[in-house]
Amino acid sequence: MIPSTTLNDGTTIPQLGFGTYLVPPEETAATVGTALEVGYRHIDTAQGYSNEAEVGEAIANSGLARDEVYITSKLNNPNHERDDVLRTFDETLEKLRVDKLDLFLIHWPLPTRYDGDFVSTWKAMVELVEGGRLASAGVSNFQPDHLDRIVGETGFAPVVNQIEAHPYFRNDEARRASHEHAIAVEAWGPLGQGAVLDDDVIGRIASGLERAPSQVILRWHIQRGDIIFPKSMHRERMEENLQIFDFELTPEQMEQIDALDRGPEGRVGPDPDTFDRV
Ligand code: NAD
Repeated sequence: MIPSTTLNDGTTIPQLGFGTYLVPPEETAATVGTALEVGYRHIDTAQGYSNEAEVGEAIANSGLARDEVYITSKLNNPNHERDDVLRTFDETLEKLRVDKLDLFLIHWPLPTRYDGDFVSTWKAMVELVEGGRLASAGVSNFQPDHLDRIVGETGFAPVVNQIEAHPYFRNDEARRASHEHAIAVEAWGPLGQGAVLDDDVIGRIASGLERAPSQVILRWHIQRGDIIFPKSMHRERMEENLQIFDFELTPEQMEQIDALDRGPEGRVGPDPDTFDRV
């Protein structure tokens, strides 16, 4: 049974979902179809992944009712202007074949683009919620000062901040800042995009528990309270990544994994303060 997290607008989201970054469009319908079959009920996609239509196809073909699957998408970097937010949100709904989306995120803050005006982009996201076809609005890759600005200037806090976080880069500053605004943290790249899987400390804890390294890492995230959506294209791994609610890490094991943090050196993705690809 996958636990739910309650967000600051009263909605709930499954704490464990399925990620679709780098799932090629031609394999997405089958891959997401398998994920839904094995029990995932939360799918994370993005305009920039070019696979929203195939995610929509998989959900439509799954036979599941609309309210049984939580769907997140993200605003692509070229679409930060208000009109583009509204126009491309419509395209996202159409591709996903839904009347209403559960969660839409600003994918990157792009502080060096658009005159650093992600506040206007955030206002357009709030407009979408007020329009009724978006349940919840959030952000991704927002640093503490970015969060302070959007909350301070609009009075609306995002429901989540989706940030890179894993044992090699705990990203505790952005996590703390999110929590201070009652924003839930979604940890992207929970396995460090594979980098953490071969770690010796993780390996030792996993052998002791007779668990896979991936399960130990994902369990660490769950006990930290973050929302995660690991990605795999293999059914056995999808199943393995779901089987993390029947064991617990001790406080000592949590500390050993905490100690693997390398700070910003441990990042596998770009630094949101300088990332500017549109
Ligand atoms: P991840 O940490 O989930 O790692 C994925 C890789 O780990 C896979 O390619 C696979 O090779 C390996 N793997 C997964 N399960 C395994 C298992 N049980 N055993 C062995 N190997 C296994 O990386 P990710 O896909 O980048 O992150 C998860 C999701 O987060 C993405 O799919 C996407 O939805 C989201 N994401 C968001 C952003 C953002 O900027 N907001 C950036 C990257 C990813």
